Amino acid sequence: MLASVASVEFDVSPEDQAFRETVREFLRVSLPEGLREGSRATPTVFAEPDLSRVWQRILHEKGWLTYNWPVEFGGTGWSPTQRYIFEKECALADAPGLPVLGLKLLAPVLCAYGTREQQEFYLPKILSGEHYWCQGFSESSAGSDLANLRTRAVRDGDEYVLDGSKLWTTHAHFADHIFCLARTDSSVKAQRGISFFLVDMRQPGVRVRPIRTLAGDHEVNEVFLDNVRVPVSDLVGAEGQGWSIAKFLLENERGGSCHAPRLLADIARLRTEAAGEPAGDGTALIDDPVFAAQLARLELEAQALEIPELRNLEQLGLGERPGPQSSIVKLVASDLRRQVDALAVSVFGYAGIQLELQRPLYGNSAPEPVYSKSAQVAMPRYLNSQAWAIFGGSNEIQRSIIAKTVLML
Ligand SMILES: Cc1cc2nc3c(=O)[nH]c(=O)nc-3n(C[C@H](O)[C@H](O)[C@H](O)COP(=O)(O)OP(=O)(O)OC[C@H]3O[C@@H](n4cnc5c(N)ncnc54)[C@H](O)[C@@H]3O)c2cc1C
Repeated sequence: MLASVASVEFDVSPEDQAFRETVREFLRVSLPEGLREGSRATPTVFAEPDLSRVWQRILHEKGWLTYNWPVEFGGTGWSPTQRYIFEKECALADAPGLPVLGLKLLAPVLCAYGTREQQEFYLPKILSGEHYWCQGFSESSAGSDLANLRTRAVRDGDEYVLDGSKLWTTHAHFADHIFCLARTDSSVKAQRGISFFLVDMRQPGVRVRPIRTLAGDHEVNEVFLDNVRVPVSDLVGAEGQGWSIAKFLLENERGGSCHAPRLLADIARLRTEAAGEPAGDGTALIDDPVFAAQLARLELEAQALEIPELRNLEQLGLGERPGPQSSIVKLVASDLRRQVDALAVSVFGYAGIQLELQRPLYGNSAPEPVYSKSAQVAMPRYLNSQAWAIFGGSNEIQRSIIAKTVLML
């Protein structure tokens, strides 16, 4: 059997080591088992609000929710390494994901481009969880080619009137607010006629229609905006500045996201489960050299990803844009995500099918499940993980960015 490489850590200073211990102790005491279990049983990309909001409240009370916010807006002031350590410890402890659309995507935009009134009104509500945000960028003819978006915003006195529709809107069915891009000027170059709005969804004219994912989950939606009114005070930045703001947000999204921690946590769990999961001949699956080699390769690649992710955080911390490096990270992370989830299916696939077969077609006398939660979510997770190659800018688009900006092709 190949030795585990899970214990390998990049070197940290004694202060950061002490910080890691503090985080570990906090998680040990304050992260409820129910949230850990819920996180392990989540088949979708994002944790649902019944988990994420509870975790948000706990972190907010501790004062740690603003770990990626600028200090002048209440940020914790942690170094990039500390932020990384925090994310990694949370992942290893099976903490659920946070509602990132407000906390990690919109909040930095408001800090950088918002008016003082917008910052004072919206930031506290993002933190407290009073507002739950979704992201309205993509449309049916505007995904990779985002500049082609058709949703219109027409000024009417102190308001804009929005008409159009958005597609693939994650968690719109939970959200009460959507930040969205709309066209305010059709007479200029496509990118220059786009503006960024904050829209209250609790008004007539907003309709949300579910889309089922490959695995049958409800995570994404279509959002229809019909004569929706938005006060001029909820325009972010200047009219026509939406494209620059969207680019800032997307680079923050790619550069500020750390995927290696959760990949490493999932690989560690897979290793433990495979040690107990019998192979065809009754031995443990981890004893199969081919399986062990696959697991070790993924673990090494996920560890290698830690360094560029940390470097991205450092650059963002210095107020620099990570640029094409964030595309490389997104590409590698999404490939690894799908490979790890595929390997989980090879561990639990048979168990998952057994579970399905045990479920009676009629009646409610289902036998006690004999397999772990990991077995139950392996297949839906694998199916849902295909989306990693699409959202946040598809992998083909990331390759084009790398080709143009790094290889100068
Ligand atoms: C699970 C999920 C959640 C999402 N959540 C959100 C959300 O919350 N908010 C939001 O606004 N959007 C969201 N999206 C939308 C996502 O950003 C788009 O799906 C993505 O940008 C691709 O756009 P598209 O679907 O229109 O595909 P298209 O742009 O039509 O692309 C189709 C295929 O053609 C390829 N392609 C397109 N153009 C090129 C090119 N120039 N060169 C090479 N290949 C190309 C693409 O890579 C892809 O494989 C989500 C998507 C998914 C799957």
